[in-house]
Amino acid sequence: MAKVNIAKQVIFDDREAKFMTQIHAATSISPELVNRLRAMPKAEIHIHIEGATDAEIFYHMAQRNQVELSADSLEEWKSFFEFRDFPHFIQVYTAAVQCLQTPEDYALMIERFYKRQAEENIRYTEAFLSASFLTQKFEAQEILDAIAAGRRAGEANHHCQVNLIPDIAREIPDSQHRVLEFVIKGKERGLFIGLGVGGLEIGYPPELFTETYAEAHRQGLRIVAHAGEAAGAESIWGAVNTLKAERIGHGIRCLDDPNLVEILRQRQIPLEVSPQSNYCLGIIAQDQPHPIRKMVNARLFCTVNSDDPAMFSTSLTSEYLTLAEQGFSWEELWQLNLNTLEATFLDEAEKDKYRIEWEKFAQSGS
Ligand SMILES: [Zn+2]
Repeated sequence: MAKVNIAKQVIFDDREAKFMTQIHAATSISPELVNRLRAMPKAEIHIHIEGATDAEIFYHMAQRNQVELSADSLEEWKSFFEFRDFPHFIQVYTAAVQCLQTPEDYALMIERFYKRQAEENIRYTEAFLSASFLTQKFEAQEILDAIAAGRRAGEANHHCQVNLIPDIAREIPDSQHRVLEFVIKGKERGLFIGLGVGGLEIGYPPELFTETYAEAHRQGLRIVAHAGEAAGAESIWGAVNTLKAERIGHGIRCLDDPNLVEILRQRQIPLEVSPQSNYCLGIIAQDQPHPIRKMVNARLFCTVNSDDPAMFSTSLTSEYLTLAEQGFSWEELWQLNLNTLEATFLDEAEKDKYRIEWEKFAQSGS
């Protein structure tokens, strides 16, 4: 892996270096801070399993399943996988999902996801699974068996915990009932904890999913929704008031509406902020600081996440490094990490287990 030496002999890997060098030519981050951010126990609540799967894994699945790719070699496929712009991102996502042809592919992808999270010391994760696609392809029981197998292997082999939140692709609204049925079946087997909605935000407002979300509430599912990423504040209003979302995916466009900021602050609704995703997708210009600074100053409940790390060549650690480079202190970054843990859907007893671990790390000063 290529290394980039930016300043003060701090060695960043490709993913960590990519965004920081785009924003500033040099960084003032100390090696101590870099090491501390890498070592700290972390939680993550907004990450898509498909978007966290490396190009190489999809390539091997495609070969095994005889899926034709628009690349003749692994190197070509990896280069295609590199982020370019939003339309290309959709092309990559669609091509990657096409490589998943068997329930075993899902089991493998999920097990590898645990590995990835454990390597970054992400001790607890709530992750999305794109259910509109997989419920088109598979019978519920066979895919639930595969997901259970992937989880068992992940838990046995990697030091981390993952809970899954299947999500509806907004641009396929007809899939919502099928997805809900699938999520309820998976919840009965202890595989899923909630329901989400993602995908193309413009043209597919939260109100299209009102009935499905109401039923999800009745079924005891936890409720989240992407909103206020590509679309404006009205999308967040819909997610909060109509869908009764308990957390908002991204939500950065709330700053457009002071009344909304006030509601989000009063209710302390967690916002799943993913800075590098916003830079990649052009939601925020590369030369601008991320609005999370304004959101934190407005006392909004912000958390930090990596969204689609394999597709954006990022990692959760590099999300924190990006914020460090934009002036966030260790104390502020640690608070964001604490916020992310608090915003999880774990019950208090489960959170306590992690709070003790977090506290131990903070006390160690390492
Ligand atoms: Zn997302």
